[in-house]
Parts: sequence; structure tokens; C-alpha cells
Amino acid sequence: MIGIVLCSNCFHDQGLRLDAEQIGIVDSSTCSNCGSITGSKLSADLVGTLAHRFFVWGTLQRCDYGAAPLVQFNQHQSTCISTSPWFDEDIRLIEKTIGVGFFYYGPRQWMVGEVEPLRALQEPSSRILIINRILTEYPTTLLRVAQSFYRIRKDPKIPENFGEYDSPPSELAGVWRLDAPNFPVMYGSQDLQVCVHECRVTAEDDLYVATLSPTRDLKLLDLSALLQDERTTEFESLDMAVHMLFLAGRHSYDITRDIALAVHSSGYDGVVYPSYFSLLRTGSMPFETTYGISHRRVPQLHEYEQAKTIPNLALFGRPIEECKVQVRCINKLILSHVQYGILFGPVGCLPKL
Ligand SMILES: [Zn+2]
Repeated sequence: MIGIVLCSNCFHDQGLRLDAEQIGIVDSSTCSNCGSITGSKLSADLVGTLAHRFFVWGTLQRCDYGAAPLVQFNQHQSTCISTSPWFDEDIRLIEKTIGVGFFYYGPRQWMVGEVEPLRALQEPSSRILIINRILTEYPTTLLRVAQSFYRIRKDPKIPENFGEYDSPPSELAGVWRLDAPNFPVMYGSQDLQVCVHECRVTAEDDLYVATLSPTRDLKLLDLSALLQDERTTEFESLDMAVHMLFLAGRHSYDITRDIALAVHSSGYDGVVYPSYFSLLRTGSMPFETTYGISHRRVPQLHEYEQAKTIPNLALFGRPIEECKVQVRCINKLILSHVQYGILFGPVGCLPKL
């Protein structure tokens, strides 16, 4: 086949072989490199894709805020990363085939959380200034009466009781991302898969899903929006700060709770915020860059970047008890099938960030 340079059977490393099988072209021609007819065939472009998935995405290291790959490759550098013995030959083959070198990547500091508004949010004394910016710069959206969303409960006492699907009582609030002591929040999503993830369910759980709708249009601050401001750099970007905040773990909850309290005080019924599981749901790589520039700042990529975010809903108070939200339907939910998307990366060649 014209344009085919390698196949999945050319590699020794099992991760590279399996990923090449996933992305390669099924074709029974003979591989000009290894002579296999059964391997999935790779063009030079696909070898580049494979190298990016394995060495760049596969070495992505998460920090408290942000993440950066430990390895990069390009046509200007020769390879200077140490390799494990079982993929030494593979890395030489990729280098030779597409003319690239692999090197340790010194990330730009914003990628590992050095973003001014994010720094300011972490400081209790300057937090309010940034929260005020969030209140003015993020758009307002409406959850309309005609719209519905889902809320999952595991092991409810009486599954058909509407109250089971309301926010937990005030005295139990303060556990998750946006609720605080005496400030209960109802979490839900229009994406049922994300609801299942957010509930950290297992196959043994007794699960129920309520389909809910507001009884009047609810006013929400949309923190899942991509703020377009090409004048600022990543270091100054409020968009990057909020994006990183919602992809961070528990250590970020005191900040997100303060944001929720301020949004509530400003008269909103709740917020739309990016699900922590957005990337797993959409199978996308976090914090993608080209030459150190975030794709979130490239106007042509806004739509693509926005599509990587799955919005969740957080409604303040106890919306069912307060008659702001009605239960339209309750169903039993059964997990019948789970399949993971899998990527691979190298080991044994990596410095710490
Ligand atoms: Zn081959």
C-alpha cells in the first residue's frame, strides 16, 4: 500500500503494538519494514500520531493545578531521553522513520499552575478580587422549564420518594466541590454517563436515576464557558485559572466553595461548571498546546476545546423541597457494560517535574 511505512508488528513494546493496532489501518499488504501481513499499517502521519500518544500524552504528569508532558519530540533535536531496554529498538525505528528526536520537555510555567488569577485564588486575601472578576466576566445562562437533567442516587432508602433526589440536608453539606456547611447543593448533569462517573458507582450499587426539570427558568453562572480574550497570555488568563481549578482534586474545594457562596449571594440559582470527568468522557488530552501556546487561546480551536468540557449543574439549596425543581420520573439504573479507552506510555526514562 502506498504511503505505508510501518505496522503494529514492527514494535517490541507491547503498549506501542496495541496502540498501533488501535490507530493503524487494517490491510493485508506486506509491511516493507518487518514483512508482516497481519499488522495494522501506519503511514508516516500515523507514526507521528503514535509517537505523540505514547511519548507526550503517555508522559503527561499532573500537578496540583495543570499538567505537562515530560517528553516531547520534533525534527530539530536528536534523542536524549534514556530508554528502557524493551523499547530501545522501537524508539530508534520511530526516529529513523519520521526523522524526529525525543527530548525532556521543560514546560512553560503556566502549564504547571503558574497562572496569576489562580495564584490569587489560592491566597485567601486576594481570592475575593478574582471571584468578583469571575462574577462579571463569565456569562449567565438559563436552565429552562422545558429542559431536563439527571441525578443519580445509590442505595436510597425509598427509591420512589422524591425527597431522596434533593440535595443532602444542610447538616450533611460541605463534602463535595461546591457545597459548604449549611450550604447544600444539588448536583446533576444532562450527560448521564458523567452522572454515573461523578457518583463513583460500582457494579454492586443499587442505583436510581431521577429525571428533573426546573419549575421556572433558573439563572445560572456558566463557569464551563471558554472565555475568549486573546489580549492576555496564559499567565494572566482567568479562563485558564478556572479551567485548571475544575480539573483539580480535593485540594481545590475551599476555593470552589467560596466561588459558589459568592455566586449565590449575587442572586443566582446555581452554576454550570466543567465536570472533573470531562476529559475521560470525551477521551481528550488536557491542556493541549502547540509551541507552548494553549489551544484554548487559539480562536480556530475554541469549538474543539469547548467540546472537551462536559457541563455539570449545581443548584443551590434544596431545589425539590423549595419547589424550584420537579421530579419528572425515577428509574432504576443498571450498569450493563463498561469499556475503558486505553493509552500507553513509557516507563523508566522519566525525570520528576
Ligand atoms: Zn511491520
